[in-house]
Amino acid sequence: MSNKTLNLTEPLYQYLLNHSLREPDVMRQLRETTARLPECNMQIAPEQAQFMQLLIRLGNARLAIEIGTFTGYSALAMAIALPDNGQLVCCDLSQDWMEIGKPYWQTAGVAHKIDFHQGDALNTLKKLVADGKQEQFDLAFIDADKENYRHYYEYCLQLVKPGGLILIDNTLWDGAVIDKKNQQRSTRAIRDFNTFVHTDPRIYLSQIPVADGLTLALRKSQLDTP
Ligand code: CA
Repeated sequence: MSNKTLNLTEPLYQYLLNHSLREPDVMRQLRETTARLPECNMQIAPEQAQFMQLLIRLGNARLAIEIGTFTGYSALAMAIALPDNGQLVCCDLSQDWMEIGKPYWQTAGVAHKIDFHQGDALNTLKKLVADGKQEQFDLAFIDADKENYRHYYEYCLQLVKPGGLILIDNTLWDGAVIDKKNQQRSTRAIRDFNTFVHTDPRIYLSQIPVADGLTLALRKSQLDTP
């Protein structure tokens, strides 16, 4: 046994998938379609999607927001897990990528739960706040341009309820967070975000090494906020 996180070998990772993945056909099909795109690494891993579905069910989430939808695989996963009267607000710059996923949302019978907003997510988030949607959301998933992570996080903190969960993707960034030679803007932004969130008193924190690193930030109640 090991008391630290295992470094998954490929066969061990396959074992994990073989013994835990319950991916519906419609999700597998969208994943296979997305795998043909050069940007396919922007899609989350299937075991991460299943974990996020479990979190949605665990928290009885009804209203969720996703920042960075790409071809809609994570949105499909979340929409499946949300109740029939649930809603997922999706933000992405690209309409074209979303159009790839939309037929799969329809096949899965969850398209009615997804409210897609094309454009700069910061504008969509600003509008949600201006429309009085603070503390309305149960869950937020941040998986867009890394330079804006901190801004997305601050908006999500306003939009989720006390006890609401913010998920932040790619926080281990393929290991680049510890590569001092890597000074790309996106890498620096993730490092800065990780450093900031580590001591943010407004949330309960956990960073888990699933896929490319997923940070969980659970908003404390207002009384706990500084
Ligand atoms: Ca991602």
